[in-house]
Amino acid sequence: MRLHTISLGCQMSAADASEMQRPLARRGFSSSEDPEQADAILINTCTVRQHAEDRAVSLIGSLREWKEKRPDRVLIVAGCAAERLGEWLHQRFPHVDLVVGSKSIEEFPKLVEEALGRRFDALEENRRAFREVCQEPPQNGASAFLTIMRGCNYSCSYCIVPFVRGRELYREPATILTEAAEHVSRGARELILLGQTVNSYRSHFVGKEVRFAELLRLVDRTESLERVRFMSPHPFYVDDAMVSAMAECRTGCSSLHLPIQSGSDRMLKLMRRNYTRASYLDKVERARRSIPDLTISTDIIVGFPTESEEDFERTLELIEELRPISAYTFKYSPRQGTESSRWPDDVPTAVKEDRLERLNALVERMSAQALGARVGRTAEVLCEEPLSGRTRDGFRVRWKDPQAVGRTVLVRIASATTRSLIGEIA
Ligand code: SAH
Ligand code: SF4
Repeated sequence: MRLHTISLGCQMSAADASEMQRPLARRGFSSSEDPEQADAILINTCTVRQHAEDRAVSLIGSLREWKEKRPDRVLIVAGCAAERLGEWLHQRFPHVDLVVGSKSIEEFPKLVEEALGRRFDALEENRRAFREVCQEPPQNGASAFLTIMRGCNYSCSYCIVPFVRGRELYREPATILTEAAEHVSRGARELILLGQTVNSYRSHFVGKEVRFAELLRLVDRTESLERVRFMSPHPFYVDDAMVSAMAECRTGCSSLHLPIQSGSDRMLKLMRRNYTRASYLDKVERARRSIPDLTISTDIIVGFPTESEEDFERTLELIEELRPISAYTFKYSPRQGTESSRWPDDVPTAVKEDRLERLNALVERMSAQALGARVGRTAEVLCEEPLSGRTRDGFRVRWKDPQAVGRTVLVRIASATTRSLIGEIA
């Protein structure tokens, strides 16, 4: 039996989707790229912006025909939008078999078990697939996601995440280390540790308290692992211990994704971000002093309630000062239940669009400068695909002669395009 998985939204959602595939794999499902060939579809949804939720809803609607063609097929909707829309999804889309919210991910196997009942149990095909799937690695790329915590204890005024994912829960270091080693045994050479505020991580290991910096040092001991990245750290929890661990660990990388959201202190306050523009820049400066060639990327929201042209210009100035190599940029979208959804969404759409365009043009200019500065250098690249990979400081590099995925090669950077570097294997 075959399972087709669709993951919408963030890395967290992609990591959750692969975790959710496991109980289905244990029930005998192997994966299928083609929804038409699939006996089950698992959609992992995102709700962080209205746009993401609308995409999920329209996708679910479009699968009615898929289900009607063969009603024995199973449609499972999971994740953040499932958490938020719950019963409404069942009523609106009777062709959905199972809705599992993001807070229930730990119970996912049990819920799938109950919902599918014995529907597939009797099949010999199932037993055969079960044996095959157990020998088949679920993932074998050079880079793997590893979720270290779920939920968020912050309450940024615009954000729905705390509502749909609940409060912070941390995975035990021992579990994380076992999973890290499993990924490496399947061929991963890079891990991306995931959490909503990944660096607020805290737990215990052999009687000692383990915070994020110590966790980086523990994961660093994983044999044959070459790189550790993480996202998204919250600026408030960036401290000297974290920066030293990044600088001193063998697997440390010289790139940091650090969302700022706005360059205006007035906006940051209304957003309830718990840092200022100056404290953010100060932390980045300290990190740059300890980690040579550190590159920064960030997230920005434009058109937050009451954002004036002047506030927005503070954001543009911040980008000039920060010189990020890339940024995820978003138009503010009010999410039901959040604090800011009670405030007038008073920046007109056309203004939001104009600001987004100006911001993106500036980010592209910063990115082009950073790419251009790499030309002529030699960089250590982890091959993520036969013809492309990434440098330790986070740039995508392409080349002509196919390389083994998972290998680290030295590449001479010959030129730059608008998004990546072109090189020759040294
Ligand atoms: N936990 C991370 C962010 C998770 S959401 C952090 O605090 O940095 C990913 C990004 O989506 C956010 O950084 C923000 O830029 C954007 N985002 C979240 N809610 C939004 C909203 N209501 N409207 C527009 N963008 C939003
Ligand atoms: Fe949302 Fe803020 Fe938590 Fe990030 S830190 S998930 S933006 S509430």
